[in-house]
Amino acid sequence: MEATASIPHRDSTHEKSTGPLPPTFVDKNQPRGDRVDLKRIEKAVREILVAVGEDPDRDGLLETPERVARMYAEMFAGLQHDAGRHLAKVFQEDYDEIVLVRDITFCSMCEHHLLPFTGTAHIAYMPNGQVVGLSKLARLVDEVARRPQVQERMTQMIADLMEERLNARGVAVVLEASHSCMTIRGIRKPGSLCTTSAVRGVLRQDSKSRAEVMNLINRRN
Ligand SMILES: [Zn+2]
Repeated sequence: MEATASIPHRDSTHEKSTGPLPPTFVDKNQPRGDRVDLKRIEKAVREILVAVGEDPDRDGLLETPERVARMYAEMFAGLQHDAGRHLAKVFQEDYDEIVLVRDITFCSMCEHHLLPFTGTAHIAYMPNGQVVGLSKLARLVDEVARRPQVQERMTQMIADLMEERLNARGVAVVLEASHSCMTIRGIRKPGSLCTTSAVRGVLRQDSKSRAEVMNLINRRN
């Protein structure tokens, strides 16, 4: 993870919390706050093993349903929370230029095949008097990733949350990912990468600023 900006000082005396803003961003996959039903996943995995012609009672598979249940609970942990909570703590700062955090790795789960897609996220924003701790952007990406997802929606969710919760003047989010549903099955094209981007606010309106951000994101050193 590489950061191209000054890190806000932890000891800022102007630190304040925006508190729970009424979100206008509509999350179609609303976190339900339920506990994951591990036993139910175990039963289902056992069923799958039987259905493909395996013996779920043989030694090697005995603990597999339990293990898979715990894995799903971890992969979908993002459904338990509002991902935007990571943007609640902000620091008052006069800085109004571009802040960019590049190469935030993530692993998500394609909702069409329940196969992982992995890659990197780049988040740029132009603050409006308040900045957020840089590590919070990585937490935001992690939490948005940990649910049944499609890359397009994931990109938009991050951009919308940045715009709304931080009241950012401009936001640009770029995701690059390899989808195992494309690399290991179906068309089987290892090495293929999918890039998505979402741009909000002044970065959407002003092509010069947008080009500057995209240059910073695409710069490879
Ligand atoms: Zn897929």
